[in-house]
Amino acid sequence: MDTYMTIDAYGDNSNAVGQAEKRVSELEKLFSVTDEHSEIYALNHGYSGELSRETIDLIRFALEMSEKTDGALDPTIYPVLVQWGFTTGEYRIPEPDILFELLKNTGRDKVHQSGDKITLEKGAMLDLGAVAKGYASEECAEIMHENGIKSALINLGGNIRVVGNRPDGSPWKIGIANPLNVDEYAGILSLSDNAAVTSGNYQRFFIEDDIEYGHIINPEIGIPVDNDLLSVTVIAKDGTLCDALSTALFVMGAEKAEGFWRGSRDFEAVFIAKDKTIRVTSGIIDNFKLDENSGFTLKEIKP
Ligand code: AMP
Ligand code: MG
Repeated sequence: MDTYMTIDAYGDNSNAVGQAEKRVSELEKLFSVTDEHSEIYALNHGYSGELSRETIDLIRFALEMSEKTDGALDPTIYPVLVQWGFTTGEYRIPEPDILFELLKNTGRDKVHQSGDKITLEKGAMLDLGAVAKGYASEECAEIMHENGIKSALINLGGNIRVVGNRPDGSPWKIGIANPLNVDEYAGILSLSDNAAVTSGNYQRFFIEDDIEYGHIINPEIGIPVDNDLLSVTVIAKDGTLCDALSTALFVMGAEKAEGFWRGSRDFEAVFIAKDKTIRVTSGIIDNFKLDENSGFTLKEIKP
């Protein structure tokens, strides 16, 4: 999944971590957009036959979240990402008319489901990159449970999933990166049996003419998100939901994202904004400790 994975697990079953590693490799083989043997690759290249249960379920989940977030999460944005060079690292700013043409083939309405079959309209492609790591971290947590591990920390490229508490019984402490200085933390979250997933354009970007272009795209215009947010961290029981929402809320911008939280309330969030505020939803604020030297001010988002 083009990232690092670490698992700290405490208990007697030394097999658990190896099983989790194996599981993540299996998932990568299903969901990769670049591996010619993956199911997603096959779909993107004309295949319309049977898919594994897991691939179908994750595609369905992504489409459902696309609908719920009013298209902010768009699992069909891949052809646009390719144009920007985010898939190869050969970055470039695409011509507006190229983007305009590509955007005609994006959107969840270009994906058709019938029974266990998924078909894509001509020119459309699927990319589960915004949800796959969250799903994989959730699968790792499941493997920990199956193996009787009661204390673990799974970190899949910043997608955090904690199982239970630390071995000493205290909550896990998770640092949230300062997007303006990624070697430092803006604050610390205390978590037990929860997932926390961060999205932000500081994670992968290129600079041209002093402008930063990041890897999360505003699907309406096909251009990297540039709004009032620096990062969004979503906290909930389910890591897959966290992953989908952190990407989508980052696309929405602060006001819309806060409204979305008020409308659903099945997750909590930490928004780091360009105006140097860190806005934390009321359900998690007691578990968040601001780094006093970060230069940010803490604000509570109330229902
Ligand atoms: P994440 O790191 O989970 O926020 O996901 C970002 C990744 O999802 C990017 O690297 C792209 O592969 C893909 N992506 C970019 N923009 C979007 C979007 N608006 N909706 C869905 N996936 C996206
Ligand atoms: Mg995501």
